[in-house]
Amino acid sequence: GKVFLTGGSGFIASHILDQLLSSGYQVIVSVRSAAKGDGIISALPEELKANVSYEVVEDIAEENAFDEAIKGNSSIDYVIHTASPYHFNFENPVRDFIDPAVKGTTGILLSVKKYAPTSVKRVVLLSSTATIMNPPNHPEVYSEQIYGETTWEQALSGTGTYRASKIYAERAAFDFIEKEKPSFDLVSINPCLVFGPPPRHLPGLDALNTSNHRIRDIVLGNNRAEITPTGPMFLFVDVRDVAEAHIRAMELPEASGQRFMLVGGFFSNKRIADIIRELYPKLHDKLPLPELPDDFPENYYSYDVSKSKRMLGMEYKDLRTCVKDAVDAMIGES
Ligand code: NDP
Repeated sequence: GKVFLTGGSGFIASHILDQLLSSGYQVIVSVRSAAKGDGIISALPEELKANVSYEVVEDIAEENAFDEAIKGNSSIDYVIHTASPYHFNFENPVRDFIDPAVKGTTGILLSVKKYAPTSVKRVVLLSSTATIMNPPNHPEVYSEQIYGETTWEQALSGTGTYRASKIYAERAAFDFIEKEKPSFDLVSINPCLVFGPPPRHLPGLDALNTSNHRIRDIVLGNNRAEITPTGPMFLFVDVRDVAEAHIRAMELPEASGQRFMLVGGFFSNKRIADIIRELYPKLHDKLPLPELPDDFPENYYSYDVSKSKRMLGMEYKDLRTCVKDAVDAMIGES
């Protein structure tokens, strides 16, 4: 089958691409520039290069941004939409964040409805637990049955902007399906904080994706005297598990219309530092001092990912494996 994967240059997308290719799919990625597309392809093993092509979509917030890309690939079977901003250096919350998240999501759905309405069976949306978490009214146990709320004021606040962008984007996607009744269906994947090996095509650790920064900062010695506070999120999931969930959700008929929360376990920055200390004696001089305190909260909420285990067959990697493989890749030992 053929899969159209948006945001092909991203951290999570790079693992989705790897797993799609090892499952035998042909993949078309959308990227912001030809240079990024060429970078992705040249980092692939020789025998897989022919199975990947790219389309340039400079800005997903623009109207009809995906039209040409989908027109040229009207025989695709599935779409996985991962392109969405995830960083903290933006000026205008609407222009730089909410618009690409929401218009990017409705835009890909609309282009598929217009130009590949019968071939595409399903769109898998990379959403987030940001759409599930509901501060400050945390329930005891989180699962995909819970929908976080946000206000427009919070959306514009800077600190609440990322969360709002994901809430609005996921809502817009399910609303689209309800109102437009396309022949394809939708599945939402909702991971918590994702760690793991960065993409092979990453030009350097300066270009590392946001969620891996804390591991990089510990390894580089930036947390020697003081560990950066962990919160508010103390749940992590391995990027390879996130990628696997996308592919299983894409293939499983019963996943239609569902939402899946993904969590590998609890973590704190201190626990990450302790794992690195144990595994990498040569990094000792750089790591946070062992006596620094753990900020894992006393009455933290719990989570229930039994649906992902039952329906998608997920078996989650633990923090140690995740951190080890991430650090190996970052310091060039993988
Ligand atoms: P990355 O920053 O690595 O990937 C984001 C991707 O989106 C990049 O390919 C980026 O392109 C693309 N993108 C962003 N804005 C635009 C735009 N306006 N036009 C075109 N492309 C754009 O992040 P992740 O892989 O970590 O995250 C991917 C998705 O996963 C996001 O939707 C995020 O919300 C979600 N997620 C991530 C979690 C995490 O902890 N990492 C947790 C839960 C959800 P470029 O690189 O060229 O800028």
